[in-house]
Amino acid sequence: MPAHMLQEMSGSYTTTTTITAPPGGLQNGVQKPDPAPQYAEADVRPEIDDTHDPSYQDEEGPPPKLEYVWRNIILMTLLHTGALYGITLVPTCKFYTVLWAYLYYVVSALGITAGAHRLWSHRTYKARLPLRIFLIMANTMAFQNDVYEWARDHRAHHKFSETHADPHNSRRGFFFSHVGWLLVRKHPAVKEKGGLLDMSDLKAEKLVMFQRRYYKPGLLLMCFILPTLVPWYCWGETFLHSLYVATFLRYAVVLNATWLVNSAAHLFGYRPYDKNIESRENILVSLGAVGEGFHNYHHAFPYDYSASEYRWHINLTTFFIDCMAALGLAYDRKKVSKAAVLARIKRTGDGSYKSG
Ligand SMILES: [Zn+2]
Ligand SMILES: [Zn+2]
Repeated sequence: MPAHMLQEMSGSYTTTTTITAPPGGLQNGVQKPDPAPQYAEADVRPEIDDTHDPSYQDEEGPPPKLEYVWRNIILMTLLHTGALYGITLVPTCKFYTVLWAYLYYVVSALGITAGAHRLWSHRTYKARLPLRIFLIMANTMAFQNDVYEWARDHRAHHKFSETHADPHNSRRGFFFSHVGWLLVRKHPAVKEKGGLLDMSDLKAEKLVMFQRRYYKPGLLLMCFILPTLVPWYCWGETFLHSLYVATFLRYAVVLNATWLVNSAAHLFGYRPYDKNIESRENILVSLGAVGEGFHNYHHAFPYDYSASEYRWHINLTTFFIDCMAALGLAYDRKKVSKAAVLARIKRTGDGSYKSG
């Protein structure tokens, strides 16, 4: 089925909130002069503290000193060594174990993309309690810090992109923005500026605070114990295969797929929507991170529930949210209008945009 037909189907489930074209943009097919370059985009959802603040810039000075966190370095090394060994065990796994590991990867990735990212960091749609309970469990399976901490880091990443207050500042190189930022102490600017972010919406959400309170036992159960025990108990997989494939390999794959959004999607790809920011469109990242590689678009329009100009095009997360909307569990999905997107492309794009 052609993508545009699927998109129409997905749009017909419920009313999608459309953010209309800014004044001065492309309206009724006629290009009008743009009187205010910083148009209404920033005013759409002022209640979420994730809007890029270009006025914040690094002070001149020597590069920051690295303070290693040896506990994390050792744990990450052990995890990745275990995952590499897990790869060698895949051919001797039972079919159900591979299927289980794959499903666990998809669900835990959705806990990050549909949960921590599009719902809780950016509030791009609303979710009813059963969906929020599912997403908080899926998020705990992914073990990338609790939703509150993830969202605080992520709002800082958008607001202070490519400065020292951005937790995974891509100006510090591929390795730092990929995993290095988790292996050293946070830059003082991250703590200072991150601490000033408005997180009141998450503090007021009981489910998010519940996860934060019981995060340690929760992640041990959901990320390590459950995925290891199920293949072992339910279909007689060996403990070794369960642990190294369904747990270590699957966890390492989800981590790296997510990290690529911060590293590769800030370094490699075109910038059709805004050439003044570092985030880029990267199809390979979209494939691994279930739809989060349209990253130039996402930083240009962080309030769009699809994190992409398109809906189901290499975007399992949007497909999932649309299915939830069809079931009545997700609603108020915010989508930027085509006119606003085209106006932005014309104003700040790098010229790589292919229309049609
Ligand atoms: Zn980014
Ligand atoms: Zn984001």
